[in-house]
Amino acid sequence: MRADADRIHALLPQTQCTRCGYQGCRPYAEVIAAGEAAINRCPPGGAVTIDRLAALLSRDPLPLDETCGAEGPPTVAVIDESKCIGCARCLPPCPVDAIVGAQRQMHTIINDLCTGCELCIAPCPVDCIRIVPRASLVTLSAEPSAESNLRRFESHEARRGLREAERRRLLDERKQRVSRTLV
Ligand code: SF4
Ligand code: SF4
Ligand code: SF4
Repeated sequence: MRADADRIHALLPQTQCTRCGYQGCRPYAEVIAAGEAAINRCPPGGAVTIDRLAALLSRDPLPLDETCGAEGPPTVAVIDESKCIGCARCLPPCPVDAIVGAQRQMHTIINDLCTGCELCIAPCPVDCIRIVPRASLVTLSAEPSAESNLRRFESHEARRGLREAERRRLLDERKQRVSRTLV
C-alpha cells in the first residue's frame, strides 16, 4: 500500500491546490492507493495524469471529474500592487512560497514559482490578487515542474513546522510563568 501511494504521489503535479477534495497531493495519493478515491479528481494534472494513473493502477481511464474543476491552460496569480495593503495574509497559504513581501510593504508574486493554485485568493482582504493565463504575462516564463513544486512545498512545510513548534514553546513558557505567579 505504501509503495503504491508513493508511486501515485510521484505522478501528481504537486500544486497542493486541494481541488481533488483532499488537503494536498499526498493525501489524495493515499486515498487512491487505499481504493477510496477515483483517479480523475486532479484538474491541474488533467487527462495526462489520469492516463498515467490508469496505466500504473491497471484501471480504466476516466474523464476528469468536473466537480473538482476544469482542466485549463497554465495560470499564475498576479497582485494589483496599487491596491495591496501589505497585510501579508497571502504569504502563509502559498504552498510554494511564491509571494514575496513583508508586513506593511507591497507584495509581489514570483511568476517562475507560482502554480496558479489559487490558495492566496481568498485570504486577501482587499481582493487584489487575480488569476491570469500564464501565456498572458508580458515576460513569458515556463510553468514550474512537479519536482520543483514538491521541493518548495516540503521546505514550506518544514518552516511551518518550526514556526508551530516555536509558538507552542512560547505558549508553554507563558503558561508556566502564569501558574508560578498563582502559586
Ligand atoms: S494538484 Fe491535483 S492531487 Fe494535488 S492537490 Fe491539486 S488536485 Fe489534488
Ligand atoms: S502565489 Fe497564489 S496562486 Fe501562486 S502558488 Fe502561491 S498561493 Fe498558489
Ligand atoms: S493578502 Fe492581499 S493585501 Fe494582503 S499582502 Fe497579500 S496581496 Fe497584499
